[in-house]
Amino acid sequence: MEMKLCDTADSLKLAINNFKSQGLSIGFVPTMGALHDGHLSLIKQAKANNDVCVVSIFVNPTQFNNKEDLEKYPITHEADKAFIDKFCDLVFIPRGEKEVYTSDYIPAEIELNGVDKVMEGEKRPGHFEGVVNVVNQLFTLIPANKAYFGIKDFQQLAIIRLIAKQKHPHLEIIPCEIVREEHGLAMSSRNTRLSNKERKNASIIYNAILSIKINYPKYSLSTCVSQAIDMINAVDGFKVEYLSICDHYSLKMINEWHETDKPHACIAVFADKVRLIDNISIID
Ligand code: AMP
Repeated sequence: MEMKLCDTADSLKLAINNFKSQGLSIGFVPTMGALHDGHLSLIKQAKANNDVCVVSIFVNPTQFNNKEDLEKYPITHEADKAFIDKFCDLVFIPRGEKEVYTSDYIPAEIELNGVDKVMEGEKRPGHFEGVVNVVNQLFTLIPANKAYFGIKDFQQLAIIRLIAKQKHPHLEIIPCEIVREEHGLAMSSRNTRLSNKERKNASIIYNAILSIKINYPKYSLSTCVSQAIDMINAVDGFKVEYLSICDHYSLKMINEWHETDKPHACIAVFADKVRLIDNISIID
């Protein structure tokens, strides 16, 4: 099947109804574009496990708390289409915000159990509200069987599970492993904004959180965390914004290892002005 492009909500609706009328199962991958191998791994899984794969590319302004981050977000639609056309059956690239936030759009009311208040939620006020609204709306526009999300955005994934459970109970959320560059840096569209030197140095982020996993439980949580922070802050131009250890399931912060059976480390780092996030499960 040749990849179809829809840029309006109406043409999307027609195309989705066409799939549904043929009884085809839909795997959906929402993205903001500037696609890389991390996105491609989600798209390949969606294609392998469903009859059709639908991808959306939309830089949702309401989830950006930082104007410069939004303005600098890379837009590479032509390259993106060429990159995915072998694996994707339909790509939705709305020609304007109104094609997502259609006239019948209603902001979602989801009980987030405080998951939105910590880490990314605390540092990026309003971010998860934007994520909840756009994802809920995309799930409404694209009633898929399965939707694929990267563990790279660990806290976002937890929130998306809550959206699906409360508003789209028939939709299955499929978590996908983090795809990394050769030296460990988690792939991200924002990596294109790093200089060559910063990109090389940024492998320290993964090495630092990996060191926590290696040192667990020999050293205390606070020792592991402060060593990891020091490793990163020692690199010229790098500054840890937060490094938190939480419970893998509830995302509640912990201060001592014994507080959970399944600790998870989440980190945000500024490499100059570029904000990078990563995370790791401390126990597999
Ligand atoms: P984004 O375009 O950054 O909004 O990402 C779209 C989807 O791709 C989200 O579910 C991300 O978690 C996922 N994703 C982004 N980077 C990676 C990566 N390096 N490995 C796996 N999934 C990723």
